[in-house]
Amino acid sequence: MDQRTLTGGCQCGAVRFVLDAPPDNVHVCHCRMCQKAVGGPFAVICPVAKSAFHVARGEIAWFASSDVARRGFCRDCGTPLIFDYPHDPGIGVMAGSFDRPDLVPPVVQYGVESRVPWYGHLPDLPGDQPTYSEDPDGMLPRIQASNHQHPDHDTDVWPPKA
Ligand SMILES: [Zn+2]
Ligand SMILES: [Zn+2]
Repeated sequence: MDQRTLTGGCQCGAVRFVLDAPPDNVHVCHCRMCQKAVGGPFAVICPVAKSAFHVARGEIAWFASSDVARRGFCRDCGTPLIFDYPHDPGIGVMAGSFDRPDLVPPVVQYGVESRVPWYGHLPDLPGDQPTYSEDPDGMLPRIQASNHQHPDHDTDVWPPKA
């Protein structure tokens, strides 16, 4: 894995992080707590040693989802970023927060008791349409021209100075 690509952060760019080791045992977690924590049908968690995880900008906010685990997120934009057992030497980074989530493929699934029954049907759904392939109102160019999300690479200054 290309070490230079192991960066990421929240959608607003207030929090940025960098890994100096690749994640190990990347996993899909279908458990109900992860579903709620990420606001999606499952989480994809990338475990890495805490010694290899560095916050490069900003500060992660935390919600104690139980007495033994906490969830890290951006206080400004709400992006879920982290699953953490504070006592554990490892930390779990959410795959979608990486600048290159394509480079952290999961290798196992956990929490399958809560897996949504339609999960296995996803590959069977019609799936040949890129974003706004039908766009009579011209939304896509307006979105792209006014995108407030941080780009998928490190920046010296964010948001950019006018
Ligand atoms: Zn943010
Ligand atoms: Zn879970």
